[in-house]
Parts: sequence; structure tokens; C-alpha cells
Amino acid sequence: MDSRPHHSDEQPGAENVVCSRCGARATDEQLITWTFSVEDSVRRYYCDDCARANIRSIEGRLDSSWW
Ligand SMILES: [Zn+2]
Repeated sequence: MDSRPHHSDEQPGAENVVCSRCGARATDEQLITWTFSVEDSVRRYYCDDCARANIRSIEGRLDSSWW
């Protein structure tokens, strides 16, 4: 039995980032242009298309409950 802990610390940021809306996978290059918003301390990424479609609701989350 191999009981050693697994070392899975590859490049941070290059892990499986998928669009929270359509599920598209981001490449490293795409990730630069993708939008992310922090919701309940979880980072959610949106691809270009979804960010554009979603930008109002992302910004709309900054409502009075944050103040
Ligand atoms: Zn998307």
C-alpha cells in the first residue's frame, strides 16, 4: 500500500478553470481575459461571452447587503 500523501501542487491558476455559466474550459491565455467574481468566498469564472451576458448580474450582486 502506498500511503504517502499525493503531491498535486501543479501550477496554481492553471488548474481546471471552467466557466461557471457554460462550462467552457479556460486555457491559460483565455484565463487572462476571463472575468471572475467572488461569491461566498468562492471564485467563479466567466468566459468572455458569458461575462458580457452576465456583467449586469455580476455587478448587480454588489447591492446594499455589502455595505
Ligand atoms: Zn461561458
